[in-house]
Amino acid sequence: MTSDVEIKLDIPQFQQDLLDWYEIQKRDLPWRKDQTPYKVWVSEVMLQQTRVDTVIPYFNQFINKYPTVYDLAAADEQDVLKMWEGLGYYSRARNLQSAVREVVEKYGGEIPSSPEELGKLKGVGPYTKGAILSIAFNQPEPAVDGNVMRVFSRLLNIKDNIALAKTKKTFEKYVRKMISKQDPSSFNQAIMDLGATICTPKSPGCLLCPVQEHCIAFAEGIQEELPVKSKAKKQKKVPYTVLAIKNGKGEWFIEKRPDHGLLANLWQFPMVPMKEVEPSGIERWMLQEYGLEVSVGKKLGEVKHVFSHLIWQLEIHIAYTEQDTSDDFRLLSVPLDNFDAYPFPVPHQKVIELIQ
Ligand code: SF4
Repeated sequence: MTSDVEIKLDIPQFQQDLLDWYEIQKRDLPWRKDQTPYKVWVSEVMLQQTRVDTVIPYFNQFINKYPTVYDLAAADEQDVLKMWEGLGYYSRARNLQSAVREVVEKYGGEIPSSPEELGKLKGVGPYTKGAILSIAFNQPEPAVDGNVMRVFSRLLNIKDNIALAKTKKTFEKYVRKMISKQDPSSFNQAIMDLGATICTPKSPGCLLCPVQEHCIAFAEGIQEELPVKSKAKKQKKVPYTVLAIKNGKGEWFIEKRPDHGLLANLWQFPMVPMKEVEPSGIERWMLQEYGLEVSVGKKLGEVKHVFSHLIWQLEIHIAYTEQDTSDDFRLLSVPLDNFDAYPFPVPHQKVIELIQ
């Protein structure tokens, strides 16, 4: 691919300085021990929107349980979601599993090394594709995320707004020009490490930086002003009353979320949308919506959960019912001891803590 961007720094020397530093300072991460395409894929999917420290135990458990594409392809989706419980952004797990199934069915279990085939797999966007191709297949492909854009915007003094989708394409062009053709795997990982440990969003550690002498932002003293990023839209606040409903057998009513959209196929306690329901109308709403006659008891606590586009404001109440079961297909009554069999999103795991 041709690039129409101009770069003023000494690219071979920059690569050398970066790779020398990486050789000595690289982070000891479990997915770096044996960089198979599958392990790189799983780690990169987990690392999207999630911190490295959080990902490490999840990655180890996941690879332990599903060591190959065949194991993951054959797994029950609910078990995979259970392994993902707490990591958030659950569509990542569902997409990963359907893509891995495609790898088994269409490519005989071999993850494709061509950008076209890899990029067509479900959930494999430009970043994940670039990470797998460069790290596992040693191809000089860019893997550009927010961290990489931050580092390059400072190095090259690029003032494009990184909140705009088209800016990523511009940075891909820069990375294509600067990436080491001899060792693209280490190059991309070195940039990731630099962004995570030295060229951090606030107070970058320029004095310790291995590529400081190449950095235009440092030379001009403007490193803290970059990257340019327009403010994200404010998330909408959505209030709910969450009912932890106990029946006469001491079991709790939980429901499975729809199989598409937010937190698809995860389990939760019934949620009453308080933008539509008066506090005095909760019991009537439960009867109409779920056919469950409940009496609402005391408040157990409040939970706030921030998604990328909205915020759940949850007020948790205990509730009681005489009914052992419900005719509603979504609801199930389950003893507390059996909750382990169901994947719950983080805000509802907090409800479980409140009723224990
Ligand atoms: Fe980032 Fe500072 Fe290094 Fe430039 S010198 S790349 S701003 S840490």
